[in-house]
Amino acid sequence: MPLSETCARLTVLTGPSGVGKGTLVTRLRERHPSLWLSVSATTRSPREGEKDGVHYFFHRREQFDALVAEGGLLEWAEFAGNCYGTPRHPVEVRLAAGSPVLLEIELEGARQVRRTFPDAQQIFLAPPSFQVLEQRIRGRGTDAEEAIQRRLARAKQELEAKGEFDAVVINDDLDVALVALESLMGLA
Ligand code: 5GP
Repeated sequence: MPLSETCARLTVLTGPSGVGKGTLVTRLRERHPSLWLSVSATTRSPREGEKDGVHYFFHRREQFDALVAEGGLLEWAEFAGNCYGTPRHPVEVRLAAGSPVLLEIELEGARQVRRTFPDAQQIFLAPPSFQVLEQRIRGRGTDAEEAIQRRLARAKQELEAKGEFDAVVINDDLDVALVALESLMGLA
Protein backbone atom coordinates (compact mmCIF):
# COMPACT_ATOMS: atom_id res chain seq x y z
CA MET A 1 0.00 0.00 0.00
CA PRO A 2 1.48 3.42 -0.87
CA LEU A 3 2.47 5.40 2.20
CA SER A 4 0.15 8.23 1.19
CA GLU A 5 -2.75 5.85 1.89
CA THR A 6 -1.56 5.00 5.37
CA CYS A 7 -1.25 8.50 6.71
CA ALA A 8 -4.37 8.72 8.83
CA ARG A 9 -1.85 8.59 11.65
CA LEU A 10 0.33 11.40 10.36
CA THR A 11 -0.22 14.73 12.11
CA VAL A 12 1.50 17.97 11.19
CA LEU A 13 1.66 20.65 13.88
CA THR A 14 2.58 24.11 12.65
CA GLY A 15 2.51 27.51 14.26
CA PRO A 16 4.69 30.57 14.60
CA SER A 17 7.95 30.43 16.48
CA GLY A 18 7.32 31.07 20.17
CA VAL A 19 3.70 29.93 20.15
CA GLY A 20 4.56 27.02 22.45
CA LYS A 21 4.65 24.06 20.05
CA GLY A 22 7.63 22.55 21.84
CA THR A 23 6.07 22.70 25.32
CA LEU A 24 2.78 21.34 24.05
CA VAL A 25 4.46 18.48 22.20
CA THR A 26 6.54 17.59 25.27
CA ARG A 27 3.36 17.36 27.37
CA LEU A 28 1.61 15.36 24.67
CA ARG A 29 4.45 12.84 24.50
CA GLU A 30 4.57 12.46 28.28
CA ARG A 31 0.91 11.50 28.18
CA HIS A 32 1.12 9.35 25.03
CA PRO A 33 4.51 7.64 24.90
CA SER A 34 3.57 5.64 21.79
CA LEU A 35 3.30 8.84 19.78
CA TRP A 36 6.46 9.21 17.72
CA LEU A 37 7.88 12.68 17.10
CA SER A 38 10.16 13.08 14.10
CA VAL A 39 13.60 14.52 14.94
CA SER A 40 14.44 17.14 12.33
CA ALA A 41 17.73 17.96 10.67
CA THR A 42 18.85 21.57 10.95
CA THR A 43 21.76 23.86 10.17
CA ARG A 44 20.93 25.98 13.24
CA SER A 45 23.44 25.87 16.10
CA PRO A 46 22.30 24.01 19.21
CA ARG A 47 20.72 26.13 21.95
CA GLU A 48 21.84 25.51 25.49
CA GLY A 49 20.72 22.07 26.61
CA GLU A 50 19.88 20.81 23.12
CA LYS A 51 21.38 17.45 22.23
CA ASP A 52 22.29 16.15 18.79
CA GLY A 53 19.97 13.32 17.76
CA VAL A 54 17.46 14.17 20.50
CA HIS A 55 16.23 17.69 19.81
CA TYR A 56 17.63 17.94 16.29
CA PHE A 57 20.29 16.42 14.09
CA PHE A 58 22.66 19.37 13.87
CA HIS A 59 24.36 19.55 10.48
CA ARG A 60 26.73 21.79 8.63
CA ARG A 61 25.18 23.36 5.52
CA GLU A 62 27.10 20.99 3.18
CA GLN A 63 25.75 17.96 5.05
CA PHE A 64 22.22 19.34 4.91
CA ASP A 65 22.54 20.06 1.17
CA ALA A 66 23.77 16.49 0.61
CA LEU A 67 20.68 15.14 2.43
CA VAL A 68 18.45 17.24 0.18
CA ALA A 69 20.32 16.12 -2.96
CA GLU A 70 19.95 12.43 -2.12
CA GLY A 71 16.21 12.79 -1.40
CA GLY A 72 16.72 12.03 2.28
CA LEU A 73 14.25 14.67 3.46
CA LEU A 74 10.48 14.40 3.28
CA GLU A 75 10.27 18.17 3.28
CA TRP A 76 12.58 21.02 4.08
CA ALA A 77 12.52 24.80 4.33
CA GLU A 78 14.60 27.78 5.29
CA PHE A 79 13.55 29.54 8.44
CA ALA A 80 15.14 32.65 9.95
CA GLY A 81 18.42 32.04 8.13
CA ASN A 82 18.72 28.31 8.80
CA CYS A 83 17.54 25.14 7.07
CA TYR A 84 15.24 22.60 8.69
CA GLY A 85 14.02 19.30 7.29
CA THR A 86 12.30 16.02 8.17
CA PRO A 87 14.39 12.88 7.62
CA ARG A 88 12.31 10.71 5.29
CA HIS A 89 13.24 7.16 6.24
CA PRO A 90 12.26 7.06 9.95
CA VAL A 91 8.87 8.61 9.16
CA GLU A 92 8.16 6.10 6.41
CA VAL A 93 9.14 3.20 8.66
CA ARG A 94 6.76 4.35 11.44
CA LEU A 95 3.88 5.01 9.07
CA ALA A 96 4.33 1.64 7.38
CA ALA A 97 4.16 0.03 10.84
CA GLY A 98 0.91 1.91 11.54
CA SER A 99 2.38 4.01 14.35
CA PRO A 100 1.16 7.54 14.99
CA VAL A 101 3.68 10.10 13.75
CA LEU A 102 3.89 13.77 14.63
CA LEU A 103 5.80 16.41 12.66
CA GLU A 104 6.37 19.76 14.35
CA ILE A 105 7.38 21.98 11.44
CA GLU A 106 6.94 25.44 9.97
CA LEU A 107 4.54 26.58 7.25
CA GLU A 108 6.49 25.85 4.06
CA GLY A 109 7.24 22.34 5.25
CA ALA A 110 3.58 21.80 6.15
CA ARG A 111 2.63 22.86 2.62
CA GLN A 112 5.06 20.34 1.14
CA VAL A 113 3.69 17.55 3.35
CA ARG A 114 0.16 18.51 2.28
CA ARG A 115 1.14 17.72 -1.31
CA THR A 116 2.88 14.43 -0.46
CA PHE A 117 0.40 13.24 2.18
CA PRO A 118 -2.94 14.91 1.42
CA ASP A 119 -4.66 12.85 4.12
CA ALA A 120 -2.35 13.92 6.91
CA GLN A 121 -4.06 15.96 9.59
CA GLN A 122 -2.74 19.53 9.57
CA ILE A 123 -3.13 21.48 12.81
CA PHE A 124 -2.18 25.12 13.35
CA LEU A 125 -1.27 26.33 16.82
CA ALA A 126 -2.02 30.04 17.18
CA PRO A 127 -1.22 32.52 19.97
CA PRO A 128 -4.07 34.42 21.67
CA SER A 129 -2.65 37.60 20.06
CA PHE A 130 0.43 38.83 18.20
CA GLN A 131 1.48 40.87 21.26
CA VAL A 132 1.50 37.76 23.43
CA LEU A 133 3.60 35.99 20.81
CA GLU A 134 6.17 38.79 20.73
CA GLN A 135 6.43 38.72 24.54
CA ARG A 136 7.00 34.97 24.47
CA ILE A 137 9.70 35.18 21.77
CA ARG A 138 11.51 37.96 23.62
CA GLY A 139 11.03 36.30 27.00
CA ARG A 140 12.75 33.15 25.79
CA GLY A 141 15.96 35.21 25.75
CA THR A 142 17.78 32.77 23.48
CA ASP A 143 17.96 34.77 20.26
CA ALA A 144 19.72 37.96 19.15
CA GLU A 145 17.56 40.97 18.17
CA GLU A 146 18.10 40.34 14.45
CA ALA A 147 16.91 36.75 14.79
CA ILE A 148 13.93 37.94 16.87
CA GLN A 149 12.94 40.40 14.12
CA ARG A 150 13.17 37.66 11.49
CA ARG A 151 11.06 35.33 13.62
CA LEU A 152 8.43 38.04 14.20
CA ALA A 153 8.19 38.85 10.48
CA ARG A 154 7.83 35.17 9.68
CA ALA A 155 5.26 34.75 12.44
CA LYS A 156 3.04 37.37 10.76
CA GLN A 157 3.17 35.43 7.47
CA GLU A 158 2.46 32.14 9.21
CA LEU A 159 -0.55 33.54 11.08
CA GLU A 160 -2.05 34.73 7.80
CA ALA A 161 -1.94 31.14 6.53
CA LYS A 162 -3.84 29.52 9.38
CA GLY A 163 -6.97 29.18 7.21
CA GLU A 164 -5.14 26.55 5.14
CA PHE A 165 -5.16 24.14 8.08
CA ASP A 166 -7.68 21.47 9.02
CA ALA A 167 -7.93 22.87 12.55
CA VAL A 168 -6.67 25.82 14.58
CA VAL A 169 -5.88 25.44 18.28
CA ILE A 170 -5.34 28.61 20.33
CA ASN A 171 -2.54 28.27 22.86
CA ASP A 172 -3.76 30.54 25.62
CA ASP A 173 -4.05 27.98 28.42
CA LEU A 174 -1.66 25.06 27.86
CA ASP A 175 -3.99 22.47 29.44
CA VAL A 176 -6.90 23.53 27.26
CA ALA A 177 -4.73 23.45 24.13
CA LEU A 178 -3.46 20.01 25.12
CA VAL A 179 -6.97 18.59 25.44
CA ALA A 180 -7.95 20.13 22.09
CA LEU A 181 -4.91 18.60 20.39
CA GLU A 182 -5.55 15.19 21.96
CA SER A 183 -9.11 15.26 20.79
CA LEU A 184 -8.13 16.21 17.21
CA MET A 185 -5.54 13.45 17.12
CA GLY A 186 -7.95 10.88 18.52
CA LEU A 187 -5.81 10.44 21.65
CA ALA A 188 -8.31 11.67 24.19
P1 5GP B 1 13.61 26.50 16.27
O1 5GP B 1 14.84 27.09 15.68
O2 5GP B 1 12.86 27.48 17.13
O3 5GP B 1 13.86 25.17 16.95
O4 5GP B 1 12.63 26.15 15.05
C1 5GP B 1 12.28 27.14 14.13
C2 5GP B 1 11.11 26.67 13.30
O5 5GP B 1 11.51 25.56 12.49
C3 5GP B 1 9.92 26.20 14.11
O6 5GP B 1 8.75 26.80 13.59
C4 5GP B 1 9.89 24.70 13.90
O7 5GP B 1 8.58 24.19 13.92
C5 5GP B 1 10.47 24.61 12.51
N1 5GP B 1 11.00 23.29 12.20
C6 5GP B 1 11.62 22.42 13.04
N2 5GP B 1 11.94 21.30 12.38
C7 5GP B 1 11.50 21.44 11.12
C8 5GP B 1 11.52 20.61 9.96
O8 5GP B 1 11.99 19.47 9.96
N3 5GP B 1 10.99 21.11 8.83
C9 5GP B 1 10.43 22.36 8.76
N4 5GP B 1 9.92 22.74 7.61
N5 5GP B 1 10.39 23.16 9.83
C10 5GP B 1 10.91 22.72 10.99
